[in-house]
Amino acid sequence: MSDSELIDLIDCVNFAAIKHKDQRRKDPSKTPYINHPVGVARILAKEAGVKDLATLQAAVLHDTVEDTETTFEEIEKQFGKEVRDIVADVTDDKSLPKMERKRLQIEHSPHICPKAKLVKLADKLYNLRDLDRVIPEGWTKERGQEYFQWSSQVVQGLRGSCKALEDELDVLFQKHGVVTETVS
Ligand code: NDP
Ligand code: ZN
Repeated sequence: MSDSELIDLIDCVNFAAIKHKDQRRKDPSKTPYINHPVGVARILAKEAGVKDLATLQAAVLHDTVEDTETTFEEIEKQFGKEVRDIVADVTDDKSLPKMERKRLQIEHSPHICPKAKLVKLADKLYNLRDLDRVIPEGWTKERGQEYFQWSSQVVQGLRGSCKALEDELDVLFQKHGVVTETVS
């Protein structure tokens, strides 16, 4: 990675940290939200060997539009069209009801761009590791289980993108009793 690429990546971390500054994760210790997008980029770099700048930038920015007032135009202006397009592929339409959004994630996951598939795999892996570690306050065991089940359906549409991440996800699916379809 060149010096200017490193600066571009750190710029994204700075941007996302400012955007998520007042948000917390749902775990009982209310971890700062920024740990999640940084952790997703970390999974990609460390466990999937991703060196592509746009993919790592999109990982850091992946929840800014969905969960803050950030716009796609703002992302394109600061980080370029490729990053915007990857973030758009992993962003739910907030105008739709929550359950419809979840259904659409399953429907859309096979059709998003290859870089977005990597971000989405790492996002699911991070969230499932979080749930495996500790269930959020107010969640029943069944709700956690349903989340694993739904995630496996989204991941089904992403398979063939990154063996290292898919293997890690499969370990968690097995541990939580989720039966995954094998690709023939
Ligand atoms: P939510 O969509 O409410 O929460 C899961 C999301 O929260 C994750 O995708 C992740 O998104 C983020 N997140 C933040 N902190 C954590 C953490 N510590 N561990 C894992 N994920 C975390 O959950 P559901 O999908 O279960 O619920 C969908 C809808 O259904 C909601 O509106 C909910 O109110 C409703 N509902 C569902 C029930 C059920 O049994 N399934 C029961 C009652 C209500 P990100 O990557 O964007 O941070
Ligand atoms: Zn996320």
